[in-house]
Amino acid sequence: MAGMTPLTATRPEFLDLFPRGAELTRLAGDFTWAEGPTYVPSRRAVIFSDVRQNRTWRWTDKGVLEEELHPSHHQNGHTLDAQGRLVACSHGLRALLRQEAGGTWTVLADHFEDRKLNSPNDVALHPDGSLWFTDPTYGIDKPEEGYGGEREQPGNFVYRLAPDGQLTAPIRDRQMPNGLAFQTPDLLLLADTGKGDGHIHAYRLTPGGEATHERIWATVRPGKTDGLRVDQAGRVWSSAGDGVHVLSPDGEELGRVQVPETVANLCFGGPDGSSLFMTASRSLYRIETRVRGLEF
Ligand code: MG
Repeated sequence: MAGMTPLTATRPEFLDLFPRGAELTRLAGDFTWAEGPTYVPSRRAVIFSDVRQNRTWRWTDKGVLEEELHPSHHQNGHTLDAQGRLVACSHGLRALLRQEAGGTWTVLADHFEDRKLNSPNDVALHPDGSLWFTDPTYGIDKPEEGYGGEREQPGNFVYRLAPDGQLTAPIRDRQMPNGLAFQTPDLLLLADTGKGDGHIHAYRLTPGGEATHERIWATVRPGKTDGLRVDQAGRVWSSAGDGVHVLSPDGEELGRVQVPETVANLCFGGPDGSSLFMTASRSLYRIETRVRGLEF
């Protein structure tokens, strides 16, 4: 891909978000369906999933690809908790997990109201320390993405795990809730991949952790929106069928990072948080930016 000019500006200021001559680099390939990237500063690496190969991988700042977990129990989305520990959504274990300092995994949530979760897909940290995660049924519907099983919940909810361990389900009106990100402490952006309409939904949040649907915040085409990340200026970087779409804080398209494969998810990372990593079907890509992820 070297030499390819991957940037398509919808508005001219889009090009200011990247160093001059920024190139798309394909870092690694041969994955089946790469997903769930999160940069872990203490590991100096991006951890990401190949859900269908039942593996997780790490791409280090030194530029080395190494196997992280096999089997990974079909981990999908990742984030860091308020203490910087890795949090994972596990299709196979139908659980939200946390990795401890010694490398062992703790189940944070695997039931709600005495019924098993479906198959947690993606997770985001709220500034109040709560972890919000989506629970569509892909990991139990698709034999290649989990260990099967029956749905026990009455719906596909978005859950909030409070810092005190209390689990609630503030969002119950979505079909297949998927990627999610907090644009501000009182606004959650949520992808719903159920209908394939590319909608990002906005939910207004209360300090107590309740959520009310506000509007369809943006529509991402071609493909659909899945993974979402927010930069320090409140712009939203969304996965799409043709790469990554960058949206203004109001949801207007600023431009696109063109990627030759469907992008499922993305994260900011690298030593200063300004490298954009994209998990795109069979490959992991990177482009340098002049912005930083909101979490850095
Ligand atoms: Mg997802």
